[in-house]
Amino acid sequence: MALEVSGPHGVSLWKTIRKEWGSFVKYVNFEVGDGSKVKFWLDTWCGSSSLKEGYPDLFRIARDKEALVVDHMCFENGVVSWVLNFTRSAQDWELDSIAAFLKLLYSSSAKGQGEDRLCWQGSASGAFQVKAYYKALLPTAGLVVPWKSIWKTRTPPRVAFFVWAAALGRILTIDNLRKRHVIVIDWCYMCKGCGESIAHLLLHCLAAREVWSFIFSMFNILWVMPSGVMDLLYCWGHSCCNVRVQKIWDLIPSCVFWCLWRERNSRSFEGKENNLMEIKLIFIRTLMEWSKAAGATHCTTILDFISFIA
Ligand SMILES: [Zn+2]
Repeated sequence: MALEVSGPHGVSLWKTIRKEWGSFVKYVNFEVGDGSKVKFWLDTWCGSSSLKEGYPDLFRIARDKEALVVDHMCFENGVVSWVLNFTRSAQDWELDSIAAFLKLLYSSSAKGQGEDRLCWQGSASGAFQVKAYYKALLPTAGLVVPWKSIWKTRTPPRVAFFVWAAALGRILTIDNLRKRHVIVIDWCYMCKGCGESIAHLLLHCLAAREVWSFIFSMFNILWVMPSGVMDLLYCWGHSCCNVRVQKIWDLIPSCVFWCLWRERNSRSFEGKENNLMEIKLIFIRTLMEWSKAAGATHCTTILDFISFIA
């Protein structure tokens, strides 16, 4: 989709956006009406990435890589159907991929008529804001990322790796699987509600909140939970004023994340479930073991450990 820049006044924003179209287009998606302005393979209009990115094998055999949505869409008697056009017929091993592809197309909200619309996804409302665009363009790595707090605590290396991936939004929670077009039910294994995201699972879910409030009452701290994992890691290091337990404090976010993730996976893959009391117990036992390994305490029982912290 190309936007015409008309006249010299009041259009510098659009001029800049046009110049930076490659980076801008990553933050928009399309609501398809008649499909005459949206590129079938290249624009993001069905799912959260372009079809080219989601189905590179099929893109490779697409006859017209620049095709518009309208070129593949039939709209008859109020019903949208899809016509694909590949350079050769499908091989056996491609059938699963094509089936998933068609399923995705038929789940799209393409209307078949009316104007195509451009939607900004850099902010929750969908309305375009210069501020949100600016924020989206800022590099996310480097300056504000609390890498030290992730890699320098004495957690086991695979835990540090997990926390790092969680902070970057790269662990395979349900929302991330759905972004990769894996068909799964949108459901949280911990609270049995809908909508598992990383922040939900590790910070805001009922089960996560139980563990966090157990910690804050143990440390006698009032805490307002930030919205994301990265924000939590960022402010965590500065929030303990007791030098005696600083090393233990530093281990806590990784320990909570790890215990919740393991519980979530045990529920998801093995069908085994600990209750909230047991999850808290597993957490405190794990924290004690890690603290001992880090030389932060010599306690041998959980009761001793809790009174050592408090
Ligand atoms: Zn939940």
